[in-house]
Amino acid sequence: MMLEKLRKAVVRCAQAAEASGLCRWRSGNFSARDEATGLICLTPSGVERRTMTQEDIVVIDRKARIIEAAKGRRPSSELLMHLAAYETRPDICAVAHTHSPFALVFAALKRPIPGLVLEAAHLHCENGTIPVAPFAPQGTEALADSVREPLRTGDAMLLGRHGALAVGSSPDDALLKAAYIEELAEVAYRTAMLSEGKMPDALPPEAFVLRHPDGKRG
Ligand code: 13P
Ligand code: ZN
Repeated sequence: MMLEKLRKAVVRCAQAAEASGLCRWRSGNFSARDEATGLICLTPSGVERRTMTQEDIVVIDRKARIIEAAKGRRPSSELLMHLAAYETRPDICAVAHTHSPFALVFAALKRPIPGLVLEAAHLHCENGTIPVAPFAPQGTEALADSVREPLRTGDAMLLGRHGALAVGSSPDDALLKAAYIEELAEVAYRTAMLSEGKMPDALPPEAFVLRHPDGKRG
């Protein structure tokens, strides 16, 4: 079996997302790109994550051809979306798509999530705000195309009336960003609830410069 280490990392990330409530009931999908070959390890479609193993992961190439798949396993229905993310951002090596609950509320309203607190600094979104793509049906080229523009400028976005998408340098990094999307959505939701529906502005860009007292960045 090829790319064992990367397969394991994708399963670990998918199971951690399930365990932490970032996606439930088979929603969401996860992938990682092997830098040496350009091949992509992707979660299978419609498979229970809690019992998922590295054998269930499907390997595809950048043209969506299946390179390795166990019997009965198909790649995630959102394979075109994952490929569009890698094509748009050659610098990233992992993609996490979740249906996390507070992010879904904003996605349902097609409302961007303002970066009210510092987690937003890690997502590099324009104006500190997580954008929303227009709705497109699951598994379509239209949905895949809808992620290109937002990902050009940031590592996080919402799919209109659908879910959230985060990209990163590794499966753990993409998962962390997916968790930050949910935190920011929850903070924004609760903040608006406590202030008669009024939403504060996102933090200004200068607030997002990551500093450490030792003088090094981050
Ligand atoms: P898959 O099980 O095909 O990955 O679909 C889940 C999903 O979230 C579709 O958007
Ligand atoms: Zn989805």
